[in-house]
Amino acid sequence: MKPIIAIVGRPNVGKSTLFNRICGGRTAIVEDTPGVTRDRLYRDASWQGKNFTLIDTGGLEFNEEDNLINQVKKQVNVALDEADVIVLVVDGKAGLLPDDFVVAERLRKTKKPVILAVNKVEQFQDPAFMEFYQLGLDEPTPVSAMHGMNVGDLLDKMVEVMPQLPEDDYEPDAVKIAVVGRPNVGKSSMVNLFLGQERVIVSDIPGTTRDAIDSVFQRNDRQYVVIDTAGLRRKSRIEDPTERYSVIRSLRAVDRSDVVLMILDAVEGVTEQDKRIAGYAHEAGKAIVLVVNKWDLVEKDSNTINRFERNIREEFAFLQYAPTAFTSALTRQRVFQVLDLVDFVAEQSTRRVSTSVLNDTLAEATRLTPPPSDKGKRLKILYATQAGVKPPKFILFVNEPKLLHFSYKRYIENQLRQAFGFEGNPIWLLVRKRD
Ligand code: GDP
Ligand code: GDP
Repeated sequence: MKPIIAIVGRPNVGKSTLFNRICGGRTAIVEDTPGVTRDRLYRDASWQGKNFTLIDTGGLEFNEEDNLINQVKKQVNVALDEADVIVLVVDGKAGLLPDDFVVAERLRKTKKPVILAVNKVEQFQDPAFMEFYQLGLDEPTPVSAMHGMNVGDLLDKMVEVMPQLPEDDYEPDAVKIAVVGRPNVGKSSMVNLFLGQERVIVSDIPGTTRDAIDSVFQRNDRQYVVIDTAGLRRKSRIEDPTERYSVIRSLRAVDRSDVVLMILDAVEGVTEQDKRIAGYAHEAGKAIVLVVNKWDLVEKDSNTINRFERNIREEFAFLQYAPTAFTSALTRQRVFQVLDLVDFVAEQSTRRVSTSVLNDTLAEATRLTPPPSDKGKRLKILYATQAGVKPPKFILFVNEPKLLHFSYKRYIENQLRQAFGFEGNPIWLLVRKRD
């Protein structure tokens, strides 16, 4: 579990510049995945060997009619709800503004650590940033995010106040499930059915500043953990519907999970927010099951399921591998089939393929469709090996990585799926040059 550090502040103070400065450009492991909106707002970073997740709350979506200060207030609310440490960025060039006081006042009331970064300070001899002491948030730290000046000092302060989050101690083969989806799609109803099956152990995660509560249940001798059921049940005090759906909390649950249950509403369909979270799960290498709930409300003919399937495949183009269940948490129809699918994709995520079988499969694949060539040079896949599980990762040693275009990579992925399954799991293909 990594602590969350949220960056808040007015527009244009340099939040995203700071965010990018700290996180750097992330080198994607799976390049060119179509349909995945790379989420630049949440990124893992580390400093002095300490890992954390950094959030640029400036990138959260707001209602268009919100004026600026209301947007900042909402950012601050999200940060107060979800983050362990808050970094307030102000603009040292613009100087102290009335809005800064409004934000500072809200932050002064929290028990969470707040760090005040005065950005755009390029002249450290200039004591002008001292005026920000007036905000009553302790010592202001002058930085220049653009030029990278003093950002190390800021990071020192950030990791110093960061809480140490403990590891959980569930059974080693427990399946951790993150249940995600918009409000009212039926997440809690479904989880209650899971939990109602057997004795439920609710475990507080000690030492957290949040009220994250996991629920544990047994089924067929296996332990399952539903991550952060408190987050599922909690109806946020923020009334704005885009805000009520706490994206940050969901992403945190996804990070800790083995399997993501993406719950969709059969009537309402797929939303951008759903795609965003599913895209995050995909990039994080999580196994995923799509659940179309409230199936009882759909008027059905013989073709309805197919139509829904097609629609979902279109909306989640990057999730062709995810199995889908059509459920009703109201009538319990197929709800327990969801757990069978969870078992199935969890098993697939830990599957290992022997090197010889893998290489035989690749030899057959390259025989059926020869690799591409460019300027007289042909791609050769020399050798492959499975480098890991959860998700399945393969290293392909090739003569010339540049020649391995997206479409051929996709072809290889499909061949691996045909041969070995890996249903419900993204496959990571890493490419290395070998002469
Ligand atoms: P955000 O809206 O808070 O995310 O702000 P941005 O990161 O988009 O930055 C707003 C503007 O301030 C951009 O034009 C940046 O180039 C500029 N800026 C950001 N950091 C610095 C800095 O340290 N010094 C100076 N002089 N300009 C900066
Ligand atoms: P959550 O916000 O995603 O946790 O959703 P809830 O579990 O609180 O459900 C929201 C509402 O939808 C409640 O009134 C549920 O009774 C109802 N609901 C949940 N699942 C179904 C379903 O499969 N069919 C129907 N008709 N209603 C459902």
